[in-house]
Amino acid sequence: MSIKIAVLSLIQETNTFSAKNASYEDFKMQGIWYGQEADIKSKGSNTEIAGAISYLRSQSCEVIPIMRAWGMSGGVLGDDDFRALLQPAFEMLVSLPALDGVILNLHGALITQTHDYADAEIVARVRALIGEEIPIAVTHDLHANVTSEILEHADILIGYQTYPHIDQADTGAKAAKLLLDLLAGGAPIQSAISKIPLLIPAEVQIIKSEPMLQVRNLADSYLSDRVLDISLFPVQPWIDVPKLGFAVTVTGTLAKPELLKIATEISDKIWEIKEQFEVDLVKPIEAIEKIRRGNQLGRSKFSILLQSSDAPPGGAAGDNAVLIGELIKAGPDFNVYTNVVDVNAVADANDVGVGGEVNLSIGASLDPRWSSQVLISGKVLNLGTTPILLKGIVMNGQEVSIGNWATIDCGRGLIILVSTEPTPSFDPATYESVGLAVGKADAVHVRSCALFRAGYVDLFDEVLILDIPGPTSPALAKIDYRRAQRPLFPLDR
Ligand SMILES: [Zn+2]
Repeated sequence: MSIKIAVLSLIQETNTFSAKNASYEDFKMQGIWYGQEADIKSKGSNTEIAGAISYLRSQSCEVIPIMRAWGMSGGVLGDDDFRALLQPAFEMLVSLPALDGVILNLHGALITQTHDYADAEIVARVRALIGEEIPIAVTHDLHANVTSEILEHADILIGYQTYPHIDQADTGAKAAKLLLDLLAGGAPIQSAISKIPLLIPAEVQIIKSEPMLQVRNLADSYLSDRVLDISLFPVQPWIDVPKLGFAVTVTGTLAKPELLKIATEISDKIWEIKEQFEVDLVKPIEAIEKIRRGNQLGRSKFSILLQSSDAPPGGAAGDNAVLIGELIKAGPDFNVYTNVVDVNAVADANDVGVGGEVNLSIGASLDPRWSSQVLISGKVLNLGTTPILLKGIVMNGQEVSIGNWATIDCGRGLIILVSTEPTPSFDPATYESVGLAVGKADAVHVRSCALFRAGYVDLFDEVLILDIPGPTSPALAKIDYRRAQRPLFPLDR
């Protein structure tokens, strides 16, 4: 008889500093699929569920797809929404004949009104439904806020090995393999966790760059036929919950204390080099001056004006207008493309049409905590509704709707892309799709922490990380954490 494995995927990265809470509708917009639909619609995608299912089938297992729901990063999820998402999945789980194992693909930083560690809550509920005997393997995003509680109910816990993330399907397949190896008998496969009170900015979590590279290399040096996975969870830092910090999990066939010893040695090393996880910030006006000076020397690549503090992939609104205000004031006199979300400004641009002159107040329309409206005037270059077809390796081939959009030429080199939904500006396709060739730019404005490194790869020659407050800021010591247990580095030195 073939091995029966159920697979359930529910993924959202919560940012407790987001301007608005997340809801069932946010998941519905991206598709909530139960049963066979979860399998059929995920097939071929770079997702954990697709990777897990395809691996299980290759091993002649019987796969029972339960659910796939994915929500854009955003605020805390309502209790009723959480319940509504999971109820059909749980009903399906209890109605199943005997299972051999369960794979849960969860982000690891989902927060609901009631549950600060909602992913651990899901695992606990699944455990209550299926009993103590059936093993559970969990996958997490690298930005998960992992706590030891989840391992009371999960046997195996692993995460992505990449950031920017490109190994979602591989992670699903690896979890499936570990689960099947566990079912095959022999020394049991289990996971251990070590967690330290450390937050590091997303900008310095890039696995292939120092200082993360030396941590990853150290972790890899422990891998063996008995140490099967080591996952680093530097955590997405914009969550204000009591147990917050950088976690390391080690999965293998060694005894738990030995797995824990390895996890602790790695986290000790991370703690030792914690001062190295620093980000140099530049004031917008200094960044503008620097690009001007660079242009006088002549160069073939462009600068990225990185507003990581207002990054929609991290749960921000994408409506902060501080940089645009500074560019207007300075009159850039170099070619620069910027972007901002503003529903009313797009409507006004549509009213005058292409070629028309507009005077607009833009920005701060969704999250007015961090910036004020900025007055701009210029000519409408282009209007549209076409979505962005991503080209970078992160989500290659995926279409992202930015709603209605307009491009406004403000003169002196400044062009603004205004849209009704946040743009995936981490990918050059954003500007290219609205008729702005990035090859002609001296600087492009990007609202992202790290994804852009996979999107733009070698198109840019410098990244200027802007010193602007916001809900996804790298200036962690300035963020108003109220519930996180202290001391916590770098808030308390
Ligand atoms: Zn992530």
